[in-house]
Amino acid sequence: MQQQEYDLAIVGGGLVGASLAIALQPLAEKLNWKICLIENQPPRDEPSIKDWQPSFDARSTAISWGTRLIYEQLGLWQDLKEHANPIKHIQITDRGFLGSSQLHNTEQQVAALGYVVPNLWLGKVLWQGLAAAKNTQVLAPATIHYVSFPNPEQAFLEGELEDKPLALKAKLVILADGGRSGIKQQLGIADDVHDYEQTAIIANVRMSKPHQSWAYERFAADGPMALLPLAGRDMALVWTRTNEQAANDAVLGDAEFLQAIQKSFGNRAGRFQKVGERFAYPLKKVRSKEQVRQNLVLLGNTAHYLHPVAGQGYNLAIRGVITLAEALAKGAQQSREQGLAFHPGDLPLLEKWQAARQGDQAGVIGFSHGLIALFANDTPLLGHARAAGLIGLNLTAPLRRWITAKAMGV
Ligand SMILES: Cc1cc2nc3c(=O)[nH]c(=O)nc-3n(C[C@H](O)[C@H](O)[C@H](O)COP(=O)(O)OP(=O)(O)OC[C@H]3O[C@@H](n4cnc5c(N)ncnc54)[C@H](O)[C@@H]3O)c2cc1C
Repeated sequence: MQQQEYDLAIVGGGLVGASLAIALQPLAEKLNWKICLIENQPPRDEPSIKDWQPSFDARSTAISWGTRLIYEQLGLWQDLKEHANPIKHIQITDRGFLGSSQLHNTEQQVAALGYVVPNLWLGKVLWQGLAAAKNTQVLAPATIHYVSFPNPEQAFLEGELEDKPLALKAKLVILADGGRSGIKQQLGIADDVHDYEQTAIIANVRMSKPHQSWAYERFAADGPMALLPLAGRDMALVWTRTNEQAANDAVLGDAEFLQAIQKSFGNRAGRFQKVGERFAYPLKKVRSKEQVRQNLVLLGNTAHYLHPVAGQGYNLAIRGVITLAEALAKGAQQSREQGLAFHPGDLPLLEKWQAARQGDQAGVIGFSHGLIALFANDTPLLGHARAAGLIGLNLTAPLRRWITAKAMGV
């Protein structure tokens, strides 16, 4: 079988793979690169971008102010903002203790601390951007089963496209498969894993009163609960439960479930009136021990998977995307200046990019993990210390600014 040859092959067209293809388009045009993106579950055919309306059941992602700036750079924000619901205020509380902290956009002199965007809308805008990325050929529905590196110049990819065998060659493979394909394991790349033995329950809820762009983060010994503002009176619920509690919750009817969240959260956001479809995600912290090799990069969930409590996974990943596109552009320019041929899978270039990403990754992963550990401990003394900390947070501008900056991803 003939193998199609590409400069880059992106395995996975989820949030991260699709963003990368768009971010690489200017460079691909300049260097006349051929890129292919292979996705096994392309977005469903839904109403066009013009008549699309968020469904009550759609899951959503909180994107930071920093991510908004990246989307502006990629030319996607104009469309994305149509269904991006601003977070203007964040309240952090600790159940059973007095402390509470509030963060406001006005303190940071920005229009919003972040935004909550339905995932379907994000996907729609990204895939529309992908269709305009002329140097990228989208192969979908297609699945890659094996990746091998038989020589230092190219990787071989094997899989299927619409049930027919597919064979490709690429100078650089970007694995953006969300860590779900087994390719990482095939390549012998190990992970650092911490299992929280918890499950995140995600659902949209309708409240009795308008949220006025408030987001709530409520910590409790058995796990945190976040409520994020959506359109109208709807909010996105992220409720962390022990695996046992989540199994019990799964059999509750909607009315009982609404009662349970009301009891856990209290009344500060109003009454919980309606709940949509519930989704459950087992929670782990996963970080790949290797994220680059000659002709290979791991990006997004396949490189790092975080607890969603601080809403940082995708925000971290998109910074990986944009910096990788910048590193490749810089490498190409330096090669041109030195009169050398440029190879995008060049290991020293990829290692340099990866080394520069370490601080951000360690900081965000540590921040998300630290929040869970700090608030998971139920001893009264620690509870009061946390309360003092949260009250202190209200009083101590530099500490509050630090948390806000983390939340904003800047
Ligand atoms: C409950 C929960 C809530 C979250 N909330 C937030 C939040 O508020 N803010 C935030 O920043 N982050 C959040 N995250 C993290 C965020 O969802 C991830 O960072 C993001 O989905 C990563 O995208 P990805 O493209 O790397 O992976 P994925 O979304 O998993 O995409 C991978 C893609 O690859 C495709 N694929 C897989 N294998 C193959 C193959 N062999 N061949 C071809 N295609 C393949 C899949 O079909 C898929 O489309 C949350 C995560 C969870 C679990």
